[in-house]
Amino acid sequence: MLTLDSAELAYGAIKAVKGVSLEVRTGEVVTIIGANGAGKSTLLKGIVGLEPLSGGKLLINGVDCSRVPAHRRVGLGVALSPEGRGVFPDQTVYENLLLGAFSIRSDADRVARLVEREYKRFPRLKERAQQMAGTLSGGEQQMLAISRALMSEPKLLLLDEPSLGLAPLIIADIFKSIAALRDSGLTILLVEQMANQALAVADRAYVLETGLITLQGTGAQLLKDPAVRAAYLGTH
Ligand code: ATP
Repeated sequence: MLTLDSAELAYGAIKAVKGVSLEVRTGEVVTIIGANGAGKSTLLKGIVGLEPLSGGKLLINGVDCSRVPAHRRVGLGVALSPEGRGVFPDQTVYENLLLGAFSIRSDADRVARLVEREYKRFPRLKERAQQMAGTLSGGEQQMLAISRALMSEPKLLLLDEPSLGLAPLIIADIFKSIAALRDSGLTILLVEQMANQALAVADRAYVLETGLITLQGTGAQLLKDPAVRAAYLGTH
């Protein structure tokens, strides 16, 4: 579904992603783990078109989309749940969901059905439909960010550090939701610093270090890898 071929991204003279090749196949959960500043968010921004590639190629379903603008990539079925939640704080939960369905806004029935689907997925969002998103708890904001991305009915969901800043019990809930999305057949590319659950839920995974892929394998293989355990799991 998604292929990166020697993708590069730069901020001026600083190369944040230095030639990354990776693949996400239909129905897979692929995890990228990496430390602060490894280039994970930059890579996801490159995939959705928020940052231009400075080299290499990005293919969606085999078609070179390296120069396709962000709004058209939504139409191709790619949606991002951004790091730090990125919800619109001064809009209600409901309004945030509607913004996620911007590209299909003229089809009111479909939008209403999708809102109901997200309220069923995360009943907490239904309870808080009229609350300003900025006043939600961290975990609720994360649910909203995921739901907002799902409102565009993506084929590929990109999740940028969904566990960031959340308590362990809430993280467990979020990962249960990710596993349920996987079981429903959605293709997911997940970026995380907290490797344990992110590798456990992954079919395949990559390690990104200072803009380069240094290791790849199945989620289970990387979970057992001594270097991964030392660097990303806090165990030896
Ligand atoms: P974190 O887990 O801390 O979010 P990350 O792996 O997502 O890290 P990125 O946010 O992609 O890393 O950053 C990669 C590199 O690019 C860092 O050195 C960062 O300082 C730099 N960078 C990111 N955004 C910009 C920007 N808008 N302008 C200049 N440099 C940037």
